[in-house]
Amino acid sequence: MNQAHFISVILPLKLEWEPVYSAGGDICIGDRVRVTFANKEYVGAVSATDVTIDIDPSRILPVTAVEKGMGAILPQEIQLWKQVADYYMCTVGEVYKAAYPAGKINLEEAKAAAREKVIARREKIAADIERRISALQERLQKKALQYGKAKDNTIGKSRLAESVRKISEDIQRAEESLKAARKNIESATHGPDLSNASLPELKVSLTPAQEEANSMIAEGFRAGKPVLLNGVTGSGKTEIYILNAWKTLKAGKNVLYLVPEIALSRQLEDRLREHFGERLLIFHSGETAASKRNIGEMIRSQKGSEGNYILLGTRSSLFLPHHDLGLIIVDEEHDNSYKQDSPAPRYNGRDTALMLSQIQRGCHIILGSATPSLEEMYNCLTGKHVQVILADRFHGSSDAEVEIIDTKAERRKNGMIGSFSRRLIAAINETIGSGGQVLILRSRRAWATVLQCSSCGEIQKCPHCNVSQSLHKTTGKLTCHYCGRTQQYDGTCTSCGGSLVPLGAGTQKIEEEAARLFPDAGIARLDSDTSQNRKYERDTIQAFADGKIDILIGTQIITKGFDFGNLRLVAVIAADSLLGIQDFRADEKALQLLEQFRGRCGRRSESGKFVIQTSQPEHPVYTNLEKESTREFSLRLLEERKDFNFPPFSRIIEIVLHDTEEKRVVAISLKLHSRLAEAVLPEMITGPYQPAIDKIEDEYIRKIRINLKKDRMSGEYKRRLRQVIAEIEKSCKYTGHISLNVDPS
Ligand code: ADP
Ligand code: ZN
Repeated sequence: MNQAHFISVILPLKLEWEPVYSAGGDICIGDRVRVTFANKEYVGAVSATDVTIDIDPSRILPVTAVEKGMGAILPQEIQLWKQVADYYMCTVGEVYKAAYPAGKINLEEAKAAAREKVIARREKIAADIERRISALQERLQKKALQYGKAKDNTIGKSRLAESVRKISEDIQRAEESLKAARKNIESATHGPDLSNASLPELKVSLTPAQEEANSMIAEGFRAGKPVLLNGVTGSGKTEIYILNAWKTLKAGKNVLYLVPEIALSRQLEDRLREHFGERLLIFHSGETAASKRNIGEMIRSQKGSEGNYILLGTRSSLFLPHHDLGLIIVDEEHDNSYKQDSPAPRYNGRDTALMLSQIQRGCHIILGSATPSLEEMYNCLTGKHVQVILADRFHGSSDAEVEIIDTKAERRKNGMIGSFSRRLIAAINETIGSGGQVLILRSRRAWATVLQCSSCGEIQKCPHCNVSQSLHKTTGKLTCHYCGRTQQYDGTCTSCGGSLVPLGAGTQKIEEEAARLFPDAGIARLDSDTSQNRKYERDTIQAFADGKIDILIGTQIITKGFDFGNLRLVAVIAADSLLGIQDFRADEKALQLLEQFRGRCGRRSESGKFVIQTSQPEHPVYTNLEKESTREFSLRLLEERKDFNFPPFSRIIEIVLHDTEEKRVVAISLKLHSRLAEAVLPEMITGPYQPAIDKIEDEYIRKIRINLKKDRMSGEYKRRLRQVIAEIEKSCKYTGHISLNVDPS
């Protein structure tokens, strides 16, 4: 039984193959093993046993150790890694590394070792009790025998009777201790579980419109299709998620509830807690590694229908050891934050959730959004997914009324005070005067987003990135938002010593201006500078909810997830920066962001106002918001995508080349281009081109885009792409880096 055989192992590396090791006989797929590879030690996952080899067996290394203390990887996990690696053109090892990062494995090891000690100690306790019980039983037998022999009605006999009773009682007590001790061993072996957590009663009752939507969802499920729940903000999508999640738990299955970012979903967390109590598990990057691992362990060891969980998390929670999943919810499916840009796997959480729902037998999936991605709309148009529409808000309020303010025209008429138009100032005064609250979006943080020299006209750029530096007044430093490097600010130009003029007001400056314009109002700011401090962030959100803050200024983070009843005005300052990105998705993304922001307002009975300050008032993104025809606008964008053969009508693969030397990256990208032209059809290739930000952290960047038709050949083309890149890397001894990004956002 214990005779050695060969196994293949997935290692946390960018490795196109799975190395083979020899191991004892009692090893299974999914076991974690410690092995050496290229003189380094790793914990890998066994992907196959009984592998046949065609090399000299003596050259195969044995595994160093089998880590039985760490829970085994489930077959579903490996299946998902393989699909992700295949679709996103990376290695299985890279996905494994993302699912089980080194820090997590180290903790798992430490925990496993500690647990073994605990188990050993508890086993010793149990053994002691067992010994005591058998000693007691022996004594009991003896006394019982003596009792049987003793003469009736003597003092001796009644004493013996007394002893027998006492010993029996002792045995009973010891047996109870033994039971408890065995349970302790069990709990140390399996980790914490949820089987004692009760599921609160169902507290959701749907409106007739929601009820109808829900029965359409059920119909979609019966047809075995993913469902897109397309409902305006405030229509009750979350209520419907809760209802379906509750029913899934009741039916003995688990639920995964994905959100793009968890930072601002505390309100959602509270709401879910109310419905699911201890069955709710939270998993996100903010949690400590230790508690993350505990959740992983809890999920892995959870068995059967006792103690099913609902897990709220971001995209990385897709890689937890899920089993028996009955429902996946992907909230705000259109959100860009679902996409991981770096490092590999460069996966999209939404699409990976679709893969996971197929791997988990009988698992349903709901994708929800007020502004579905064009990809999702297309999936519904082609019948792959089922669309369910919720057109009305629960509280019956209408969409916030849009007012577009032309900042260029206002400036001409002296209608601007700094970044604020007089019209916006009036609207803010009116809102806070009547007890309402205001959200102001400015998509750039910092005080000044650009600094220009008044003598030579140079824009101050980061020495390491081709990006303008911004000035942060709170720190008095020039900061690069790409590499994070800072520099002391002394107000002079680095090329000629002339004096610098701040251009472009960021959130800090807007906050400063607002404080001057509205001296009596409570004002706060939320952006990624302030949210470094999570307590400040939580307190600010709470203070806004409690009405202690009148005006909250922030970047994109304030556009998501907020549900404040008293919010009556939302405004965007310098909205043009939302359109600035040169990308075929720019309009779609801007529209989604603005719609989402607008949805923050009027979530209760009153409807609100949405002010957009822009220098391009005629831009279709804005005018369409005004006309309330988001859907038609999206359909038109979809038509355009079709004409230009852009996603979702094709699939884009972006090849990104990085190098510390610009000349070399140019040469390599040209060479790669000519090789690619032979491997795929030339009309599929765009580039090589220089992206808008062509240098980050001292590395020059070039890109090539491949536009793949979604047909039978696409798999073959992907294979050829990988091959060409591998050859280039080999032949040029390319020291830079080539990475592949499938479905770039
Ligand atoms: P969405 O997720 O579509 O933005 P929500 O589920 O958050 O919408 O609903 C918006 C508001 O309306 C919430 O405050 C919610 O509690 C309330 N609401 C929606 N549907 C119902 C319902 N059926 N019963 C009670 N309250 C509801
Ligand atoms: Zn930089």
